[in-house]
Amino acid sequence: MNISQLLLNSAQARPNHPVIVFKEQRISYQELATKVKQKAVGFRQYGIQNNYHVGLMMGNKPEYIVTYFALLSVGAIVVPINPTFKENEITHILNDSEAVALIVDEIGLTEVQKAEKGFSSVNMIFSLQDAAPYVSWHDVSGDAEDYFIEQKNKDDYAQIIYTSGTTGKPKGALITHGNLEWMTQTSVNMLELSSEDRVLVVLPLFHAYAKLQGLLNSVITGSTIYLEERFIPNIILDRIAKEEITIFLGVPTMYTMFVNLPQINELDFSQLRVAGCGGASLPVEILEKVNKAMGVDIGEGYGQTESTVMISCFPPNSERVHGSVGYPLPGIELKVIDPNGKEVPAGEVGEIIFKGPNAMKGYYKKKQETRETIKDGWIYTGDLGKQDERGLLYIVDRKKDMIIRGGYNVYPREVEEVLYGHPDVVECAVVGESDPTFGEEIAAYVVVKQEKTPDDIITYCKEKLAHYKVPRKIYFMEELPKTTTGKILKTPLKNR
Ligand code: ATP
Repeated sequence: MNISQLLLNSAQARPNHPVIVFKEQRISYQELATKVKQKAVGFRQYGIQNNYHVGLMMGNKPEYIVTYFALLSVGAIVVPINPTFKENEITHILNDSEAVALIVDEIGLTEVQKAEKGFSSVNMIFSLQDAAPYVSWHDVSGDAEDYFIEQKNKDDYAQIIYTSGTTGKPKGALITHGNLEWMTQTSVNMLELSSEDRVLVVLPLFHAYAKLQGLLNSVITGSTIYLEERFIPNIILDRIAKEEITIFLGVPTMYTMFVNLPQINELDFSQLRVAGCGGASLPVEILEKVNKAMGVDIGEGYGQTESTVMISCFPPNSERVHGSVGYPLPGIELKVIDPNGKEVPAGEVGEIIFKGPNAMKGYYKKKQETRETIKDGWIYTGDLGKQDERGLLYIVDRKKDMIIRGGYNVYPREVEEVLYGHPDVVECAVVGESDPTFGEEIAAYVVVKQEKTPDDIITYCKEKLAHYKVPRKIYFMEELPKTTTGKILKTPLKNR
């Protein structure tokens, strides 16, 4: 098997059905399959061979999808790279993954040109925009008749996908063809996807979330991807309504922006049957506002790059419990353990560990980190959570983000949930700040709608939180630092 086969199967079953709608373009399954075949033959002619590591650094556009399936078809191991990365970040990923080739579009071209001198293994660069001496991506094309697909075993690597780098330098998770196939098949069943679905993908394709839930899930079921380059909240909200989108994949910051738009109450979202959310915690306050305004029932899911994408979610017609991230997927074993490795009773907080066909094989060339993360076949997620009697999972926080104030554990998420309840708080992040008396003090970074004093915020929190959890340091910000996928970055706040 080879994960690209999914596309060929759908092209055979529904040749004329649209697979991608992008700006003015509508591309059918048959057209996409032909483009992939031509590109794959072209890549072989340029010397890209089975098991070569190839960096793919592009924004969301049809060419991304063509390149991704073409590279997998020839057996290459794809290394997705954020196209907005800067020189040193690009060099880190390409050298760390020992990529021999790189494909770049106009977004990352200038940074690649600056970074190139530091590349230790890349010896071929393909550019979507004319940029001699790089090979033009458009010249990479052969006769579709000469196409053949490299056969892979389920344990063969398909991609080295880097974590978001929220807590440190991104690490390259080794994901196999088998991981991708199982994950896609399982989430398609779970979400009951069909060829009638219209899936809006604005999350970046280089990230596991969009690649699996947006791209592969759609392709396997023969549904249509409404691909967007950029998240402009009012435009995306309009698109969801006007294109009668049935599946929207979002992250918490997107929903936070949606609720602040007046048109959310005026548009018709009656076709939207899955409003997904993952990647970070979604404050219950925001979730309930979105549900009310859009007439949806957001299904939170939980996962990480190391789990291919998902670990738990709510099936579409299941009863939602706000604040929970649903049930572990069938086939995944999950435990919540104490620091001694013992499983804790229902309702108690511990580290989430899991095992299953979605588990990565390790971090590329990082033996130490791999040993710390995979023990006896269990992946240690680094996330603290709890499960209730029914098996529903709740994420409490990241282990690394827990604050210890005067000996008491404080989970930033609990404080953030309270802050989001304040009518003037748009966004917030709570971190520990070193303190001579308590070891750590609770600090809240807050974006507000209208001017407030720190005392306003502190007084509000005092009404809703135990004394030791109340943030004593309040910093007002214009905006919070975020990754391209919209995750709030706490490290720069901790280091301030
Ligand atoms: P790095 O590992 O480099 O610090 P990262 O952990 O942000 O980056 P990802 O794999 O993109 O990299 O993110 C996975 C993490 O995101 C999970 O381990 C968890 O902490 C968080 N997360 C994902 N979904 C949820 C959710 N629904 N609720 C709360 N947190 C979530």
